[in-house]
Amino acid sequence: MNVKEILENGKLGRNEIIMLLDAQGKERQLLFKKATETKLKEIGQKVHFRGLVEFSNICGKDCYYCGIRKSNREATRYNLSDDQILDAARFAHENHYGSLVMQSGELESPAFTKRIEHLLKEIKVLSKGELGVTLSLGEQTEDVYQRWFDAGAHRYLLRIETSNPDLYKIYHPGDTLHDFARRLTCLKTLQRIGYQTGTGVMIGLPFQTTGDLADDLLFMKQFDVDMVGMGPYIEHQHTPLFQYRSELLPIQERFDLALKMIAVLRILMQDINIAAATALQAIDPLGREKALKIGANIIMPNITPGKFRNDYALYENKPCVDEEPGECKNCLDVRIQLADSEIGYNEWGDSKHFFRRLASTHSPSVDAIHPSQKYR
Ligand code: SF4
Repeated sequence: MNVKEILENGKLGRNEIIMLLDAQGKERQLLFKKATETKLKEIGQKVHFRGLVEFSNICGKDCYYCGIRKSNREATRYNLSDDQILDAARFAHENHYGSLVMQSGELESPAFTKRIEHLLKEIKVLSKGELGVTLSLGEQTEDVYQRWFDAGAHRYLLRIETSNPDLYKIYHPGDTLHDFARRLTCLKTLQRIGYQTGTGVMIGLPFQTTGDLADDLLFMKQFDVDMVGMGPYIEHQHTPLFQYRSELLPIQERFDLALKMIAVLRILMQDINIAAATALQAIDPLGREKALKIGANIIMPNITPGKFRNDYALYENKPCVDEEPGECKNCLDVRIQLADSEIGYNEWGDSKHFFRRLASTHSPSVDAIHPSQKYR
């Protein structure tokens, strides 16, 4: 079968996905066209904002690809105060963003759990329950996930980074803190508690093949995730993985592969939320807009106070590090229009897939799972 036949047939197994990810020229355009049509049919033109607060770059882990890993002594560490975080939440609410993402390095401690729980409750109060909250705070125990859910978080993003356990070992230290099995358990726990559960991978890592990426997409499908955030791998000079930079695809090819991953995922999982990752913009100034056109429907404007943004450097050449949240918003308004999309202000923009998943598994109703919130 060729790409046209695969797209017409619609059955995407591993071999078909590899062919789509390898598509070039006219076949690549066919893939993007199909993904655009699928998005418009299932999701529509709306793009939803998640105001991103990267509130601390202090991390207890040591992932080999990450610029804020514990062992990187070159990183300038910061930790926003509760007031600064709540100010960012207020900004998101007053600017009608609908949702907030709280992200930080990974810490597991009773004090951290309590702090997040307190902040979640405060955010619900200051926004009169109107601001939806996504957490991206790594692996935690079931009890911690439950406490944060009860305090008001309703989405959780935990990226698997690669679904291949052998590659996972190459990208992480081989200790109990960086355990592939635990990551899977955490994802399952999040789903069971009732979070809209998201994951994601890096695209173009050293030693990763197109087959691995096809497996990543099938993993997302099989795991029945509700949302995905994935982007190109961008190397950071102060990380162990940097030594393998000669193994990498040229950066533009990584970018293109990331776009194709988004397009194939949109065809494979038509009703999930897909974020246009900031890493795309680090490579191409219009990277996120291109992703919106071919399948993504979520943007995460950075609302971390500008002076801290440069220090949350998971990778190098991160865009928009000098802008304050207000400037970022004005720039995005224009960019979204350029992508023929419309911003869903004052809406949570929850994953349609989540509600269908609940209905199909005969889970309790959404209200019973999370009585304090409603789908808007
Ligand atoms: S990827 Fe996440 S958990 Fe790993 S070192 Fe970076 S911030 Fe920490």
